[in-house]
Amino acid sequence: LERNIRERERDAAAATRKLTKERLKQREAEEAFFRTNADVEALRKVSRQVYLKKREQKKLEEIIDDLEDMNYLFEGVKLTEAEDNELSYKKQILELVKKQSDLDEAEFSVALQRYKELSACDKTNSFSEQKSWEDQQIGKATLIFGSKDKKRSISQDEYEFVFGDQIEFIKASETESTDEFDDVRQVQPVHPFESRTKSTLEKLQEERKTLPVYSYRDELLQAVEKHQVLVIVGETGSGKTTQIPQYLHEAGYTKRGKIGCTQPRRVAALSVAARVSQEMCVKLGHEVGYSIRFEDCTSEKTVLKYMTDGMLLREFLGEPDLASYSVLMVDEAHERTLSTDILFGLVKDIARFRSDFKLLISSATLDAKKFSEYFDFAPIFHFPGRRYPVDVVYTKEPQADYLDAAIVTALQIHVTEAPGDILVFLTGQEEIEMAAEVLKHRTRGLGTKIGELVICPIYANLPTELQAKVFEPTPLGARKVVLATNIAETSLTIDGIKYVIDPGFCKTKSYNPRTGMESLQVTPISKASARQRAGRSGRTGPGKCFRLYTAYNHQHDLDDNTIPEIQRTNLANVILMLKSLGIHDLLHFDFMDPPPTEALIKALELLFALAALNKYGELTKVGRRMAEFPLDPMLSKMIVASDKYKCSDEVISIAAMLSVGNSIFHRPKEKQVHADNAQLNFQTGNVGDHIALLNIYNTWKEVNYSTQWCYENFVQVRSMKRARDIRDQLERLLERVEIEITSNPADLVSIKKAIASGFFPHVARLLKNACYRRIKHPQTAYLHPSSGLAQVSPKCVLYHEMVLTTKEYMRNVTEIEPKWLAEIAPHYYQLKD
Ligand code: ADP
Ligand code: MG
Repeated sequence: LERNIRERERDAAAATRKLTKERLKQREAEEAFFRTNADVEALRKVSRQVYLKKREQKKLEEIIDDLEDMNYLFEGVKLTEAEDNELSYKKQILELVKKQSDLDEAEFSVALQRYKELSACDKTNSFSEQKSWEDQQIGKATLIFGSKDKKRSISQDEYEFVFGDQIEFIKASETESTDEFDDVRQVQPVHPFESRTKSTLEKLQEERKTLPVYSYRDELLQAVEKHQVLVIVGETGSGKTTQIPQYLHEAGYTKRGKIGCTQPRRVAALSVAARVSQEMCVKLGHEVGYSIRFEDCTSEKTVLKYMTDGMLLREFLGEPDLASYSVLMVDEAHERTLSTDILFGLVKDIARFRSDFKLLISSATLDAKKFSEYFDFAPIFHFPGRRYPVDVVYTKEPQADYLDAAIVTALQIHVTEAPGDILVFLTGQEEIEMAAEVLKHRTRGLGTKIGELVICPIYANLPTELQAKVFEPTPLGARKVVLATNIAETSLTIDGIKYVIDPGFCKTKSYNPRTGMESLQVTPISKASARQRAGRSGRTGPGKCFRLYTAYNHQHDLDDNTIPEIQRTNLANVILMLKSLGIHDLLHFDFMDPPPTEALIKALELLFALAALNKYGELTKVGRRMAEFPLDPMLSKMIVASDKYKCSDEVISIAAMLSVGNSIFHRPKEKQVHADNAQLNFQTGNVGDHIALLNIYNTWKEVNYSTQWCYENFVQVRSMKRARDIRDQLERLLERVEIEITSNPADLVSIKKAIASGFFPHVARLLKNACYRRIKHPQTAYLHPSSGLAQVSPKCVLYHEMVLTTKEYMRNVTEIEPKWLAEIAPHYYQLKD
């Protein structure tokens, strides 16, 4: 299996290479200019420095042309006075221009020639560095390491001696970097760990007073008193999330209701609640609690409640006026997640009819006008954060493999830069784990040659006890490398970071309303994100940010802002929610930025196909039941349908296992073959991935949820425990929607039919050579190599999700019979055969 996967990967890589070659051929014209990277750089330098202003540029070209002509024409000829004057005048301008560009004449004319060619070419073929981004993406996906050219100049012998690979960074030209950090202010450094001898509580209380928000405490409370809705803006790490709810609590706002604070990410909600409970010296879950999907850590006592925005949305179902809350803080509003955007519309309405309700919208970006306008011109409370200058550097050339580049840069910093921790932004768990492994591997055995490197991963699925590790102070003499997802961009603040490595990517959900396909994709970040990331290095002292892309990329290829999620996601989930809240007129819902109509229609179509809505767009009984489950509509439909097939017991186990994500199996490097064999054990009879997940769950249950068993079978204990928790909740929800627990373990067909009742839109048929085509959609896809059916290639399959790497892969796949579709979804499929 392993060999096969490798072969496939090699095939993929070969195909990619071929593709790239072909593209390159097509672009022969451009390629002529890109003979070496140095040329490109020289070219850019010239185009940046000399041709800043369009008019001057034009004039210049004319002048030079004239000049050359004149020189040629008038060689040896006596000029008239006027001609002479003109020539000398033009020569003067040329001199001036040359001074600016700082190039000698020969270089200048070569560069000019190139520039002309390039701009001519630019007009016909809007060529940008998009291609290198694409290649970078492809390169990453196929994991071809270090394919970029190796002729890097060597400047630090010592470093070279230790690691032998390095990346060159350059500063961007002034015009680009000054506006990056214009609101820099110099402040006296604060030492949060100064008072080690004091008690933890005292220390925490002192730390609280050093936060920028502290000096605005009274002003802020007055503003909240005076205004019903307040937009709060402050730098990340200034204390908005942890302090403001406490201030409000101290000021008595919790006497008549809870204070809620929403976060776009579960890890943030959890970790911030933990921090605040420490600061308030109470047990987590008592006065301070949190609520995230499948995990409620609150009690009767809870007055400060941190939760994900999605959870608050669900609370609307039980409490449409949020009567138990006196204050709600919608935090990290700038993230503009789907749930936050929907919340905006709902809480705006509540604020209008509940005069006792206070609403705070807090954001880490300065661009808060939009929020203010949306909330009927609510006042903006802006408190300046603490910010030190950040030195931003870019790579000289585009990096083929950003993961490798990030690792190399981290080691480079570790060996050559002054003490201070490093924060690396990666796109997801897999990447982070890989980076951690490679870093450990490369520093192993270097002993005293380099200082100790403490590697701290942080991502959403990381177990809580390990999450705490990133906040622990770095031991003396060591350096911490935090490998984080976007979560560290604004949601979490880690003290002591001096260096930021920004590869310029993040994972975003994208949705194609035409095909109904949703996929997680690694995409370039926005300029706003890049700015936030860089800012993370300048919190406790001057910092440095290493961007693993060129200044040109930054300038030309990054969007200014991230597109709000609502405009690029599948809306079925929230529409089901809004419908069950009684909001029917979606077209006139008060969206801050409305979703594309096409996406709205597609979502309504899906809900209709799933029988959650009737033909008038009203919620059906099935839809009402579905809405009770905190799951995607297809998953909830599968559960609701299991009632009919008498297998709800099995189906909720499958749903729980699917909800855990792709972290069930553990594949240690040295034992991959064993792990894969263990995995195959659950696939006996090519039952498909869904049933395999069920087999794993049931076997684990039979052995009394044994940890030992998990180790032996390369299954991750904590994922299994999480699946059990989720399953318990789903079981309770079944009771609520009055579906009996029924079990029919031997009847796999019924189970598969129940699954198909939710996932019939995700059915694909084998075309040829392991290539599948979605029924009803002109879209091809392949079985994910991790699928138990990857070797079998059944004729017709149902898949849980589509992932996009080098190609479209279907992950978690089960074979089905096409004729079931006519039975399950006759309205959706009219099959001829
Ligand atoms: P903001 O919301 O304005 O970005 P926070 O309130 O999250 O700021 O953070 C304020 C400070 O609290 C941070 O500088 C950080 O030092 C500290 N802090 C926050 N969360 C934790 C945590 N889980 N563990 C330790 N310190 C934390
Ligand atoms: Mg915050």
